[in-house]
Amino acid sequence: MVAVNGKPMFPCPVCTQAREVRITKKDKPYLICDPCGVQVFVRGPAGIEEFRRLLQHTNNEGLLTRLREMERLYRLACPQCGHEFWAEPKLIKTSVFDGGLKGFRCPKKNCDAIVPWEQTQ
Ligand SMILES: [Zn+2]
Ligand SMILES: [Zn+2]
Repeated sequence: MVAVNGKPMFPCPVCTQAREVRITKKDKPYLICDPCGVQVFVRGPAGIEEFRRLLQHTNNEGLLTRLREMERLYRLACPQCGHEFWAEPKLIKTSVFDGGLKGFRCPKKNCDAIVPWEQTQ
């Protein structure tokens, strides 16, 4: 079970940050992600069983490694100004020669640096 300070944790389906799994008075698990405004309630008996199984099979290390890998893949740092940003489709810079993916444009104001995609592979 994913546990931080002894509390079961589960990733928010939107931002994938680990959130504490709480239990309602009726013994049904739920999780709340405040930044996303996401509330996940598991109400059906079959769903609850499945959710518990998922919690048991999600081991802490594996989950954290996966999240870290996601971050490494999509988090870029501008070589010019050091600004860190997420690789977003709207920042994609394509090559004027063949239309292929060249890299991502640094979103920082007054910085037009292109972070080459190869760098993150
Ligand atoms: Zn979230
Ligand atoms: Zn920059």
